[in-house]
Amino acid sequence: MSATIKPFTDEFEEYGRDESRASGEASSISFPTTEDEVRAILEKLHAERVPVTVQGARTGLAAGAVPHGGHILNTSRMNRYLGLRRDEQGQFLLRVEPGVCSRSCASS
Ligand SMILES: Cc1cc2nc3c(=O)[nH]c(=O)nc-3n(C[C@H](O)[C@H](O)[C@H](O)COP(=O)(O)OP(=O)(O)OC[C@H]3O[C@@H](n4cnc5c(N)ncnc54)[C@H](O)[C@@H]3O)c2cc1C
Repeated sequence: MSATIKPFTDEFEEYGRDESRASGEASSISFPTTEDEVRAILEKLHAERVPVTVQGARTGLAAGAVPHGGHILNTSRMNRYLGLRRDEQGQFLLRVEPGVCSRSCASS
């Protein structure tokens, strides 16, 4: 199941850094695909007082997605389009999950 909290082994090494090229350490990582999974992961980590670093596509340049211990919650697999609607001004509004990529992050 994708919501599993996994040990931060060598196979996840790339998730220790972002586009800033700074790198850090973590003890565990998860790739939730739904809000319920995010909630379950955070409840568990909160109870254990584990610090959490949230990651999107790791294209940030300020090292905000670089972990400093604790857990990495990576949202890149929350990539569904949830709905399209039009407001009173005729503008289209698209609802997406946080892992949906624009063209620039999809090609990185
Ligand atoms: C080639 C290139 C071009 C770029 N061009 C631009 C540009 O034109 N304009 C621009 O503004 N930026 C640009 N950037 C910077 C970067 O793409 C943006 O900052 C981008 O929005 C980061 O999104 P991300 O999902 O990769 O976030 P990440 O790098 O994964 O995270 C950035 C921060 O947001 C937090 N975070 C991520 N997801 C969540 C979430 N779901 N909930 C809460 N916190 C979260 C992280 O903890 C971290 O602190 C560029 C970067 C590159 C490499």
